[in-house]
Amino acid sequence: GTPAAQSFIAKEARYGARNYAPVPVVVDHAKDCLVWDVEGREYIDMMSAYSSVSHGHLHPRIVAAAERQMRKVAVMSRAYYGTTLGPLLEKLSEVTGFERALPMNTGAEAVETAIKCARRWGHRVKGIPDGQQRILVARGNFHGRTTTIIGFSSEPDYRMGFAPFDGGFQHFDYGDMDSLKAAATANTCAVLIEPIQGEAGIIVPPPGFFQELRAWCTANNVLLIDDEVQAGLGRTGRWFAFQHEGIRPDGLILGKALGAGLLPVSAFCADDRVMQVFVPNSHGSTFGGNALAAAVALEGLKVLEEEGLVDQCAAKGEYLFGRLREVQEQVKPLIREVRGRGLWIGVDIEPSCTSARDLVERLAAHGVLSKETHDTVIRFAPPLTITRELMDRAVEIFRQVALEKRG
Ligand code: PMP
Repeated sequence: GTPAAQSFIAKEARYGARNYAPVPVVVDHAKDCLVWDVEGREYIDMMSAYSSVSHGHLHPRIVAAAERQMRKVAVMSRAYYGTTLGPLLEKLSEVTGFERALPMNTGAEAVETAIKCARRWGHRVKGIPDGQQRILVARGNFHGRTTTIIGFSSEPDYRMGFAPFDGGFQHFDYGDMDSLKAAATANTCAVLIEPIQGEAGIIVPPPGFFQELRAWCTANNVLLIDDEVQAGLGRTGRWFAFQHEGIRPDGLILGKALGAGLLPVSAFCADDRVMQVFVPNSHGSTFGGNALAAAVALEGLKVLEEEGLVDQCAAKGEYLFGRLREVQEQVKPLIREVRGRGLWIGVDIEPSCTSARDLVERLAAHGVLSKETHDTVIRFAPPLTITRELMDRAVEIFRQVALEKRG
C-alpha cells in the first residue's frame, strides 16, 4: 500500500488492542454495495459488516432520516418520551408480530436482556426458585462477547482465561432434540438458540427440528428465545428465519441490520405475558432507544418493506447459491460444501487445499470483501440491495482465486 495506507494500518496496530487481525484494506468510503480504500481501489462488499449493512452503505433514505433527526435531537434519555421511539416500537410490533420490544444498542446487550427476562419469567411466572433457573443453549452457539455470554460459549478462544463465569446454562447439540431433552430439567426456563448458527459457520438446522423444539417448549412451559441478531430482517429471504420453520418463538432478539448500517441498534421482542417481568428500574440502557437510533431503525424497516428487499433477498440468494455451486463443481476438490439461506452463504473449504483466511485475503486483494469463520468457512453476506451484475463480478473473482488454489 501507499504510505498513507500504511500509516493508518500502523496506527491501529501500534495503539489498538490486538483483538482483531484485519486484512490489509484501509476503507475510506462506501456507497451501497461498493467500498473504496484510501488509494481509490474499489471492492464489492460481500460481507456487509457481519450482516449489518443489509440496506447497502449509506442508503439515501436512511441518511436523510438521520440528518433530519440530527437537526432536532439525537440523544435524550428514556427519562422522557420522544417522537421516534414510539413509532419504531409500533413498526417493530407490526413486522415481528410481538406485542412489545425493549430497545438496546448491541446484539450482546439484547441477548443479555433476553436472558434476564427469561430468568425472571422462570422465577415469577413458572415458580422456579430464584437462582435455580436454567437456560438451554446449543453447542457451537454465538450470542456475543459479554462474560455471561462467553460463559456458555463452547469456543475455547472466546473463553480461555476469562473465567469465572455465570452458571445457569446447559448445553445440547444443535439440531438434536434427544440431546436437548437429556439436558433439560424442571428448572429449565428457556431455550436460547440461533435459527441458523452464523459464527459457527452457517449451520442450517435439520428439517423439522424447530417444529419439534417448539412443541417441546410449549409442552414443558419453556420459553423459546430466537436470536436473530444476524439472521433477522430479511437476511435469509424471509423477514425472520423462524418463518422458514413454520414456528413462532416466545422471544426474538434483533440487532445488526436493525441499525440500518448506520448505528448500533438492537431489541428484544416478546409478548406481554413474557415482557411483563420488566417494570421500572428493573433494566435499562443510557443509549438504548435514543431518538437518533430510533429514527434510523424506523426508516430502515420502512426501506426493507417499501423496496421489497426481503423478497429480493430470496431470489438473489438462490442465484448466488447456484453460482457458487457452479464454482464448487469447477474447482474440485477445493470446496466441500456450499450452504446457507438467502444472502447468507457459507463456502466450506477443504483444509488440505488451503485455509479460508488465505482465500479471504486473496479475494480482498482482487476487490471482494468476505470473512472467514473458523479455519474452513468463507462467509458471503452482501447487502440485500446487491445486483446480479455485482454478484457475477464477485463470483468470477472467487472462481479465479479458487482455481489458483485447488489442490
Ligand atoms: N447474536 C448473534 C447470533 C450474532 O451473530 C452476534 C454477532 N455476530 C451477536 C449476537 C452479538 O452482536 P454484537 O456484536 O452486536 O454484540
